[in-house]
Amino acid sequence: MSNVDWQGKHVTVAGLGVSGIPAARVLHGLGAVVTVVNDGDDERSRAQAAELEAQGIAVRLGDGDTLPASTELVVTAPGWKPGKPLFAAAAEAGVPVWGDVELAWRLRGQDGREPAPWLAVTGTNGKTTTVRMLASILEAAGLRTAAVGNIGVSLLDAVLGDEPYDVLAVELSSYQLHWAPSLRAHSAAVLNLAPDHLDWHGSMEAYAADKGRIYEGNRVACVYNAADPATEDLVREADVEEGCRAIGFTLGTPGPSQLGVVDGILVDRAFVQNRQKQAQELAEVADVDPPAPHNIANALAAAALARAYGVEPAAVRDGLRNFRPDPHRIEHIADVDGVAYVDDSKATNTHAAEASLAAYDSIVWIAGGLAKGATFDELVTGCAKRLRGVVLMGADRALIREALARHAPEVPVVDLDRTDTGAMSEAVREAARLARPGDTVLMAPACASMDMFVNYNKRGEAFADAVRARAAESA
Ligand code: ADP
Repeated sequence: MSNVDWQGKHVTVAGLGVSGIPAARVLHGLGAVVTVVNDGDDERSRAQAAELEAQGIAVRLGDGDTLPASTELVVTAPGWKPGKPLFAAAAEAGVPVWGDVELAWRLRGQDGREPAPWLAVTGTNGKTTTVRMLASILEAAGLRTAAVGNIGVSLLDAVLGDEPYDVLAVELSSYQLHWAPSLRAHSAAVLNLAPDHLDWHGSMEAYAADKGRIYEGNRVACVYNAADPATEDLVREADVEEGCRAIGFTLGTPGPSQLGVVDGILVDRAFVQNRQKQAQELAEVADVDPPAPHNIANALAAAALARAYGVEPAAVRDGLRNFRPDPHRIEHIADVDGVAYVDDSKATNTHAAEASLAAYDSIVWIAGGLAKGATFDELVTGCAKRLRGVVLMGADRALIREALARHAPEVPVVDLDRTDTGAMSEAVREAARLARPGDTVLMAPACASMDMFVNYNKRGEAFADAVRARAAESA
């Protein structure tokens, strides 16, 4: 189906959402006969449906499980679980299922232009940061590029838009990879692998296998994390183009075919003439903002992909220097009464929270939300000694409370028995009560936010608002 004649093709788009609506419009514009199916039938979806119907796109609300007759292709929102009856029906009927990424991949070059290669990034944590660092490096090299995928510009816009790109920095989630069987990146990185979204994938093995798809068919480099052997295993298992290299990144001294750190300098021992004897300086640790260990790892992964694409060392340095992190990622909000307040709302799983909890010595930790099938014993064991106190909120807070009782029984815990949006002000108030001067109040919930907030941005804003209100009171 790569050079598809879309005229009259019956396509079912699963899900009225950020990927479904643009996909339906694009396919309709190409001449396909599009039907959108959606589980929900609320006011918002009715309004969206009315807009699409006015353009000639059929929409079936309240029934995302029935495959419309004569469907030849399903294009699904990435979040739809593989176990849904719609996909069983598609399999039964021999109908292929593509995700939003697969659709974008297949539509590349539709306009006759030479498609831009993709430098792709996945991993449990650090994707957005790494992709933005990569785009910044590519820009510093004078290339026309964009950070696309899960962030920024949508992939469909990037492949179909008027602006031609030299190369794209693409963030891919495990869901998107699951539904993108024919994607073939120029080079790709898996930053790390820790249990996440297991309720969706079914098992750690299935999650890892979906992440590993990013390496399939790579042409130049498969970038892995030397400190996370599971990522290297995925490289070994991948079927890549002849001559594609495995490139590691490490926070230690790099071996041949690795990038790493020597005396505060990020160095490349992979893309140099003689990697047995030579290493190339790329940038200083101090060029990376913030220079926390996990973020240096992100910078090395971004540098590896840029170097695989042929970017010069000076552009790696300039790109890293130009880069500033997004909000809600270990963001310092204010100091109040000698206590620092840090928003890491983006720590939506235990692995991310572990990275930020490791960055401070004495912490009042605000945690809780939707656990997504995670357990908290390891996380709590790792940080117990540094906890001044804990404030819990959200739907799955009992899981964290129980882990604290098992591994850190002496740490005071305030359990806010509430999941409403207003709970954040109370959480900050309780955290302030527990904190001593010199401590950090760290909101790194280790959980998703949707039980209490629209998304992690809103959770982070609620925290920042509550902190600012305290700062105003104490001034
Ligand atoms: P993603 O797009 O994968 O969710 P982000 O760059 O948005 O990643 O960062 C998400 C969270 O993970 C942040 O809380 C950040 O502090 C943490 N984080 C970032 N990079 C890493 C890493 N390499 N390892 C562990 N945690 C990380």
